[in-house]
Amino acid sequence: MAAKIIDGKQIAADMRAELKEDLIKLAKDGIVPGLGVILVGDDPASKSYVTAKERTCEEIGIYSMDRRLPADTSQQDLMALVNSMNADLKINGILVQLPLPKHLNEAEVLLAIDPGKDVDGFHPMNVGKMVIGEEAFLPCTPHGIIQLLVRSGVEIEGADVVIVGRSNIVGKPLANMLIQKNSKANATVTVCHTRTKNLASHTRRADIIIAAAGWPNTITADIVKEGVVIIDVGVNRVEDATKKKGYRLVGDVDFEAVKEKASLITPVPGGVGPMTITMLLYNTIESAKRAAGFVSDK
Ligand code: NAP
Repeated sequence: MAAKIIDGKQIAADMRAELKEDLIKLAKDGIVPGLGVILVGDDPASKSYVTAKERTCEEIGIYSMDRRLPADTSQQDLMALVNSMNADLKINGILVQLPLPKHLNEAEVLLAIDPGKDVDGFHPMNVGKMVIGEEAFLPCTPHGIIQLLVRSGVEIEGADVVIVGRSNIVGKPLANMLIQKNSKANATVTVCHTRTKNLASHTRRADIIIAAAGWPNTITADIVKEGVVIIDVGVNRVEDATKKKGYRLVGDVDFEAVKEKASLITPVPGGVGPMTITMLLYNTIESAKRAAGFVSDK
């Protein structure tokens, strides 16, 4: 039986409607959450991510402070901008679009962001708090994946989850979030990577597979079991002469074949992607609530 499609666009729209309600309540107290976005250089993919983030902020009613710096910006100037946003009371969240140009020290910049405004959840302070299960800003893509699962009615508790990929932005934080002792986690997690000896031996017994390898067809139908839940994080360009741009976007999963065996599956595009930006908005609003002394009710 063909899988049910997890509609990331719809789930993201539902969450944004909830966030809008929060914003209306905050506005009554004179609070408008603000997001500071820093983009260095003119990498086209980064530009389009940043533009999408700013547009979404505007749509929902979050103030967005956009700072675009030339590719040859010095470390000193970038640090000064981060520090000025740290001090700016209108700004509740700071986002430095990665990757930075090679001459800049990314780790130093991320460390300079006030952990209370680190809405990407990349600061070591927030990473550490997340690992030990304390309240922290959770990184947006893994948090969005958990929301997709929970809002699709997937039982995470007790599930055998296999994550393919161990990056600092997806695989590692997601593994840590899924082993936390709470009802949206409590999973048994295996993390696979390029040194994993036999990927299929892990994926074949998984109840939930989260593919974040960055290669098309990493997950094929012969290496998954019937009824598996599939979250496809990958975003890969493949040549397609029928498209105006000459390419199309695909995930890491052989979608057409795997959907015949899976019970639930996310498409690419329209699965994880819309959730990532939504969780950034969520974190920015949470940060504004904390700054105003409101206790989080989520
Ligand atoms: P990354 O830093 O390149 O990490 C890829 C990970 O996958 C690495 O840990 C690598 O192992 C592992 N891997 C690669 N090929 C593999 C294979 N054949 N078998 C097992 N493991 C394999 O990538 P990332 O930043 O996590 O992103 C992953 C994908 O998700 C990309 O396509 C990216 O564009 C996409 N993404 C999407 C969103 C979204 O919002 N939709 C957000 C973030 C990322 P090693 O560690 O051994 O090299």
